[in-house]
Amino acid sequence: MSQLHLGEIIIDVEQKNIKNIVVHEMVHLLVRKHNAVFRAYMNEYLPKWRCCKDELNR
Ligand SMILES: [Zn+2]
Repeated sequence: MSQLHLGEIIIDVEQKNIKNIVVHEMVHLLVRKHNAVFRAYMNEYLPKWRCCKDELNR
């Protein structure tokens, strides 16, 4: 279902951003794309989230 996100999960795991991954995937249950709504949710649930490679890759 979310195979497209396996790559970014692996990348994040390597960087030990476990919490970031979990929140990220939870938000994806609500918003499938990395759009403004997605970022708004991330800012709400994880204010300190850092998503750079993710944004650059899409
Ligand atoms: Zn994602």
